[in-house]
Amino acid sequence: MKRISIFGLGYVGLCTAACFAHKGFKVIGVDVDSERIKMINERKAPICESGLNELLKTSVESQMLHCTEDCNYAVKNSNVSFITVGTPYQRNGNVNLKYVQSVANDIGKTLRKKQKHHLIVLKSTVLPGTTENIIKPIIEKRSGKKCGLTFDICYNPEFLREGSAIEDILNPDRIIIGEFTRKSGDILERLYCEFYGQKTPPVIRTKPSTAELIKYANNAFLATKVSFINTIANMCQAIPNADVTIVAKAIGFDKRIGPLSLNAGLGYGGSCLPKDVKALASFSKRLGIKPLFLKTVEEVNNLQPHTLLKLAEMLVGDIRGRRVAILGLAFKPNTDDVRDAVSMKVVNGFLDKKAEVIVYDPMAMRNAGKILKNKVEYASSAIECVDDAECCVVVTEWPEFKTLRCEDFIGHMRTPTVIDGRRIYNPEEFGRKLKFAAIGLGRRTND
Ligand code: NAD
Repeated sequence: MKRISIFGLGYVGLCTAACFAHKGFKVIGVDVDSERIKMINERKAPICESGLNELLKTSVESQMLHCTEDCNYAVKNSNVSFITVGTPYQRNGNVNLKYVQSVANDIGKTLRKKQKHHLIVLKSTVLPGTTENIIKPIIEKRSGKKCGLTFDICYNPEFLREGSAIEDILNPDRIIIGEFTRKSGDILERLYCEFYGQKTPPVIRTKPSTAELIKYANNAFLATKVSFINTIANMCQAIPNADVTIVAKAIGFDKRIGPLSLNAGLGYGGSCLPKDVKALASFSKRLGIKPLFLKTVEEVNNLQPHTLLKLAEMLVGDIRGRRVAILGLAFKPNTDDVRDAVSMKVVNGFLDKKAEVIVYDPMAMRNAGKILKNKVEYASSAIECVDDAECCVVVTEWPEFKTLRCEDFIGHMRTPTVIDGRRIYNPEEFGRKLKFAAIGLGRRTND
């Protein structure tokens, strides 16, 4: 039976662990957070991801997944160790590698005592050269062994989207393997073939530094699409009767462009795109290549939440003292993650203008509360949130917000005014029945 260990049980690590266990691999999960380990071993998911609870329940019950803080035990009892710890961005433009380095140290020390071959697979997002120049030397030094002999390292980036992490792990578009030696790439490719069987996606094998760059290029391109369509959205707002959703649909039919990641809105957020675009721009600068393009993508994104505030002022006038309902705090639907979420910029924008803010999110209230504390009021449903509000803004496109009708706003709000930051409402109907504005929607002149 294949035995693997996974270091770092966050969004990437825990979902990967649950999927491997579900596919019949014996998985040992390792984390430094004892509370998190206890929860997982009790079959409770510490994060919200669709399908994760069910997978955890069966895999922990069947003992295919077991979590521990004991690195020694994990390395001794597995042939492959995945590293999936966080790599946050630092203000100085570098990626903070302290968690990855700490795991590399721990694994290296343990390898000193292990005779059998061990493969280490780094999945965390790191800049080109990191695996070769930072991680490999740490493990070689700590283990006293040479990479390519009794142990190997591969870089294998992860592309899952929070909110559909399990689905994405089970059905990836491709697998990228960055390898120092052919043997290590073969081991990892075989492992994935065993995991996916007939459904194995295209596998691209290359050098670690190319694999590292692929991950950043991928995220930077997605961010580019978002900033591009938001630029068009801003133009639409200034053109009577224009609508960005129609523009996006039309250009999305062009095979060279494609329909995905072309949703105009409040910009990209979350724990990956913002930090990865920033890190790639800093890296480019260090290479002596001015990151003009990436800087523009970032600048467009930073300005986008202000568009919403401008629309609010256009509809309600002075915001000071007005009661504003915020629908959605998670950085995207189906997750409880608020790291670098646009919602925080929107809430703070309204607070700066001295509005009275009430918020609601189906999953992210607990995480948002840790950041917003007592600066805002918290509602326990969408209807409670809009009740008596003078302006409502949709920040996250949760399915349950899509089911709200004009009458729900009219029946509960003090002054029914809705700003659709994610283009989930029918502009004709909402524009006719209440005060309404939306990102990428030009002023209607035909009604
Ligand atoms: P996360 O912050 O959710 O989880 C990281 C986990 O690592 C935490 O549970 C933490 O306690 C644990 N940890 C820290 N130090 C440790 C150590 N020394 N040993 C064992 N565990 C330790 O992180 P995440 O969002 O899952 O992201 C992980 C990596 O994957 C990052 O590099 C990220 O950029 C990349 N990534 C994330 C996503 C995503 O959607 N979240 C998608 C693709 C790639």
